[in-house]
Amino acid sequence: MRYASVVVDIPTRGLDRAFDYAVPDALAAHVEVGATVLVPFSGRAVVGYVVSLAQEPPAGVPAEKILPIKQVLASSAFDAAGARVALWMAEEYACPLATALHPFLAPGQRTRVVRSDTGDWTLVNEKAGPVDDRWVRLSTGASAFTPRKNATKQREVLTALAAGPVRMAELGAMLPGAAASVRALAKRGVVAVEVRRRVRGGETTTLSSARAARPHALTAGQRAALAAIDQAREAACGDVVLVDGVTGSGKTEVYLDAIEHTRAKGKSALVLVPEISLTAQTVGRFRSRFGDDVAVLHSRLSTGERYDQWDLARRGEAHVVVGARSALFAPVPDLGLIVIDEEHEGTYKQDTAPRYHAREVAAHMARERGCALVLGSATPSLESLERCREGAFGGAHWTRVRMPERPGTSVLPTVRIVDMTKQPKSQQAVFSVPLTAAIEGVVRRREKAVLLLNRRGFASFLMCQDCGCVPECPHCSTALTYHERTHELVCHSCGRRWPGYLTSCPSCGSRYIGAYGIGTQRVEDELGMLLAGLGPAGEGVEVIRMDADTTARKNAHQELLERFDAADCAILLGTQMIAKGLDFPEVTLVGVINADTTLKLPDFRAAERTYDLLEQVAGRAGRGVRPGEVIIQSYWAGHPAVACVATHDRDAFAASELAARSEAGYPPYSRLSNVLVWGKDERAVRACTDRIADGLRAAVGRGWEVVGPADCVKARVKDRFRRHVLVKSPVGSNPGPLIAACVQAAAPPRGVSVSVDVDAQDLM
Ligand code: ADP
Ligand code: ZN
Ligand code: ZN
Repeated sequence: MRYASVVVDIPTRGLDRAFDYAVPDALAAHVEVGATVLVPFSGRAVVGYVVSLAQEPPAGVPAEKILPIKQVLASSAFDAAGARVALWMAEEYACPLATALHPFLAPGQRTRVVRSDTGDWTLVNEKAGPVDDRWVRLSTGASAFTPRKNATKQREVLTALAAGPVRMAELGAMLPGAAASVRALAKRGVVAVEVRRRVRGGETTTLSSARAARPHALTAGQRAALAAIDQAREAACGDVVLVDGVTGSGKTEVYLDAIEHTRAKGKSALVLVPEISLTAQTVGRFRSRFGDDVAVLHSRLSTGERYDQWDLARRGEAHVVVGARSALFAPVPDLGLIVIDEEHEGTYKQDTAPRYHAREVAAHMARERGCALVLGSATPSLESLERCREGAFGGAHWTRVRMPERPGTSVLPTVRIVDMTKQPKSQQAVFSVPLTAAIEGVVRRREKAVLLLNRRGFASFLMCQDCGCVPECPHCSTALTYHERTHELVCHSCGRRWPGYLTSCPSCGSRYIGAYGIGTQRVEDELGMLLAGLGPAGEGVEVIRMDADTTARKNAHQELLERFDAADCAILLGTQMIAKGLDFPEVTLVGVINADTTLKLPDFRAAERTYDLLEQVAGRAGRGVRPGEVIIQSYWAGHPAVACVATHDRDAFAASELAARSEAGYPPYSRLSNVLVWGKDERAVRACTDRIADGLRAAVGRGWEVVGPADCVKARVKDRFRRHVLVKSPVGSNPGPLIAACVQAAAPPRGVSVSVDVDAQDLM
């Protein structure tokens, strides 16, 4: 008899351990680590996950007291190392064990079960699972067969199949009632029906840059990076290599070669890319090197597509998995290498439980699996830079390799900062004089330009010129955004809308209330006017707008980029989503319309994020033969986050920023956890937050600091009051268990929710 340790999926904090069950002989072949099973628990049948197996019953428990597993619901989704990573996540991020296991499960798998008439239980899956297509084809020797005279349908079926096999579903759609004829014909051996597994989610693109050819020679920086990665992989103990390479320095090329070396040793590789830059272009470059050995996982795929791509990895048919954050948990056998591109991106932090950071989980996973971790960025996070400076973190070596140059003759673009406070105030134009001139130059030379409109932060809200009042949503304390086309004020926290434009200030009554900040539509309109002023040359320019509205449709993102790629002379106008990863060699101008809206956000990372965004978008210019120019319009031209971009001097920016962080005791010099409390009853929320803060203050040791409680910046969302407490703890401390215990001791009442966010990225 074997025994299984099972984590039951009942998310209660008090229940946080695995329970032991016996494996009945009948199920022995199917109960593996990572399997989803049905077990008896407190007199009910509940779903659980097998995290380990043993030959002996657990010590101190008589074997006959141990209940048997009832049924296996799904085959293995993770191995023993994966289970250990999940147990670590549960502790590190203060979440229930079952929650930490969820990211490992097959796409679409739910935790609910239903019972059939026969008494068997099945998991409720979200339209996933494999799809099998039935194909019909003519058998050899079918030509010898002649249908009876009145068997018209059979004759039609045979005619349809003459050109080759047809999917049963299509045949049925073409010739209603074909199924009966196919059955009759199959009985006589005239046609054959075969089941073919269909793999969903393989995309293709016409983008020229997606087929990037292998370069003739690597740069010195690329060779150094590859050598460091090979060494880390050979060491097989979770060592980390930070590839700190300027935009266009050939980081992707390094990943491709490092994966090739990994494959040559018979190992697999996992590549994480921010969702937003997981475009057809990126995927295309991996496919063009590794072909069908690539599985792709991201949220724009349907559940079925994700399942099939995930299963390709599990069955060992694809050895290179490219995907967004959650692809980290894909069941890749024999992992040799994990790559995280744009490692500084905030999107690597998940904002629902388990609130993990992919970089941290990957570092832990690399140690568990004995593989190498590669972090790549043109703007590495201050956390990673600090660990490389130390040379080690969490028992692994951290090495930084710099790639300061672009290959060949391509050079970093020249950057010019335009101080908007010194521009003529008269017409309140979107485009400054230098940016207007530069756009005209691009049109004259028939080149391409990218214009970034920084939309995060306080863009296109209304502001009173007399008292500075900004109208807010009465339910969410969020600045309302004005939408010009629909003439509505919209709250982006709760989605409420108010028709019309305010004609006077709600606070002081002044009539000088107007739109501050600009929307993409307004920029598009002004750009149209600018181009019209250029006569026939301006008419031939393709303007492509890329924002949340124009990319809502599936594949819209890719289609817009393909249009930009194919155009002769074009301007791509967009929000943050155009800043990353695009590689169009014909782009010679990048314009940033409003650099500093994100600088005003109340978050200690605001400056770092603004610098990253500007440096990244600047890197879209001059990637080809022709040199590039960047023009940044700013109201805070002297701020280091803006000024350092002009010299591409990340070190200067990091030095000024690290000094400020050290002074205030912020990461990377501490760990910062955010305990968020929310609910409709303000008094209950306040009381609960106070209890948590008091408990924390009593529990923490030296070097720890408890900040708050305070209202969140978004003090109300959807009529819920939001308060929070911040916990700063030393680097290397383990705040999760302590905070979890304090939250539990504070016993949040019904109607009050609490979330614990360790290493929080979002403090709003
Ligand atoms: P990054 O990921 O650092 O932004 P990419 O890997 O996209 O840079 O490389 C930028 C461009 O330079 C691509 O078009 C790529 O094909 C090309 N490239 C990369 N390495 C080399 C090299 N060693 N020699 C010539 N061209 C290269
Ligand atoms: Zn006012
Ligand atoms: Zn609201």
